[in-house]
Amino acid sequence: MGKPQRISFAKGLLFLLFPPTCVGCGELMPWREGQDEVFCPVCREAWQQGFLPASENMVRREDGLTLVSLVKYHSGKTDGVPEKLIYRMKHKNERRVFSYVAKALAPILEDAVSRMEPRPEELIITYPPRRPSAVRKEGFDQAEQLALALSRETGWPTDALLLRTRKRKKAQKSLDAAERQANAKDAYRIDAKEGELAGATVILVDDVHTTGATLSACAKLLLAAGADAVLLVTVARTTQNIPDLPEEPKF
Ligand SMILES: [Zn+2]
Repeated sequence: MGKPQRISFAKGLLFLLFPPTCVGCGELMPWREGQDEVFCPVCREAWQQGFLPASENMVRREDGLTLVSLVKYHSGKTDGVPEKLIYRMKHKNERRVFSYVAKALAPILEDAVSRMEPRPEELIITYPPRRPSAVRKEGFDQAEQLALALSRETGWPTDALLLRTRKRKKAQKSLDAAERQANAKDAYRIDAKEGELAGATVILVDDVHTTGATLSACAKLLLAAGADAVLLVTVARTTQNIPDLPEEPKF
């Protein structure tokens, strides 16, 4: 009996010493919200209102890849709660935030995987690594943290299958759709031995899907390296501009 009490006392003390703030509005979290909630009640409601309807969690892109996402995202909108959460994930490495998001995303992902035909034999979670300069600046890679949090929720392993090449120099957000595709191409390479991905379904995780250029480039590499299938998963996706991707040869 003594032990659980000590843990909750320690947690309570941490809460008092380093009071968590709401990811939406930055205000101190109300005491009663506990340690697992990252939004105050007002922001939580706005966050949940941003959820994609269940029928739209999973979309099939024009290139045939399936994309699974949790919330709608508006590029350039800075005062929305989902947009603030994505911003916070990029700039602050908070395990509680990544876990919170992964908890909401995992059931949707598990549902999507359960519907895959044929049934995946082996699942590997991976992510497109950030530019080294961004990782140096922020001190972490948010896509990696998200992949790790999803792995904790689902029990599926993560593997850093993708590496950066030195070819891409610009941040994707500064470019339009065509420029993004050109920029993403050749920016990554595979870190897997020949045949290593045979039989594996790769779950490719990122924070946001806007044009999807980064995920397309990475998915192509994974499939070319022998992965059975690639499932794209993002916390958020823009709903206004799902891109008209050019017809690609079938993977
Ligand atoms: Zn709030």
